Amino acid sequence: MSKLLIKNTYILTMTEEKLTKGDILIDGQFIVAVGQVPASMFTDDQVEILDGTNCLTMPGLVNTHTHAGMTLLRSYADDMELMPWLNDAIWPAEAKMTDEHIYWGSKLAMVEMIRSGTTAFADMYSSMEEVARAVSETGIRANLARGCLAITDHDDNSIKESRTLFDHWHNSADGRIKVWLAPHSPYTCPPDYLAKLVNLAKELKTGLHIHVAETTDEINQIAENYQRTPVEYLLDNHVFDVPVLAAHCVYINDNDMTILAQHHAAVAHNPASNMKLASGIAPIAAMLEKGITVGLGTDGTSSNNSLNLFRDMSICSFLHKVNLLDPTALKAYDVLKMATIGGAKALGWEQEIGTLVVGKKADIIMVDLDKPHFCPWNNVIADLVYSAQGSDVKNSIIDGKIVMKNYQLPHLDVREIYQKTYESAQAIK
Ligand SMILES: [Zn+2]
Repeated sequence: MSKLLIKNTYILTMTEEKLTKGDILIDGQFIVAVGQVPASMFTDDQVEILDGTNCLTMPGLVNTHTHAGMTLLRSYADDMELMPWLNDAIWPAEAKMTDEHIYWGSKLAMVEMIRSGTTAFADMYSSMEEVARAVSETGIRANLARGCLAITDHDDNSIKESRTLFDHWHNSADGRIKVWLAPHSPYTCPPDYLAKLVNLAKELKTGLHIHVAETTDEINQIAENYQRTPVEYLLDNHVFDVPVLAAHCVYINDNDMTILAQHHAAVAHNPASNMKLASGIAPIAAMLEKGITVGLGTDGTSSNNSLNLFRDMSICSFLHKVNLLDPTALKAYDVLKMATIGGAKALGWEQEIGTLVVGKKADIIMVDLDKPHFCPWNNVIADLVYSAQGSDVKNSIIDGKIVMKNYQLPHLDVREIYQKTYESAQAIK
């Protein structure tokens, strides 16, 4: 059976702020009809039917910045200053992680993401071959990049691994996996090292995923070493010659925003992580006004500590409203756009996913509205941001395949994933 019919559902296409009611037909990887589906488009013996009664069907959410393997470090070190958190807790534990630990931790992250409505994510970490293997098995879509830091990259091994990862996995798993490169940040990548990654990205015709302007320490360090802002430093080093996904951008000025907009660089906004680590508040409303593409991210689970984008959508809206003392800032639909089509654009996938329209790939979630916190259904679009829980996602379809049906992931042994992740976390303590 290659066709899938979602019947009798509320539809939010994310091309306009409006709900409609109807059916959706999927053929293979693609959406082939939305709204009215003529009976001539399928025969009963070749179509699987998903009942959409009391469900809202919308594009899957896109997590634009995370480190999936960090589920191993969830609640491992909380309520600490950033540098002691990294130096005394996170980095020593990461040094003990093996490929197998990262495989299980990443697989757990994918289960958590699928169950809370995420259908695509951007990841930056090590042991990325294992992460790619977990992506191919779980059925999620991912933009993967091996994190590269000059200080730990003896003989450019991380850069070499990035290239091998690209050769093995780019455009694999029916196109669900894309491989980018990841210079970790301006403060961990000096100009000569950065140049190697920029040149490799040009050669491979791929993009760069990088942390940018996350803390005041970074701003001060780059100013001292290069008399530049981090964004100016990246501009001088030709980073914006290729597609860029810049995570955080908490401390960026007006000129930095102009540079990002002119070069079509996208920003991954991580409100929960920025709040938990007390990094600061990124000027997202100003970025959107400048026309910068902004997607939503969770960051790794040790600085969040969850991968639930439904929760982070409400955090995002509330944070900017109170910061600007403006309740009209970051409206529900603006945040939904960031979490769907904004994220798709940021990952270089706007032609394929991010809206629910004919011709795009079917990355679709069905949210169960038959819950007390949606009642009395006055404005379901607002409810999605201000009231919904990630656990309201009942069905998930990625690349035309059902990966979660009635809250279950039948192709995965979830209990085994919990157990192996627990054992891996114990081993790195
Ligand atoms: Zn990060």
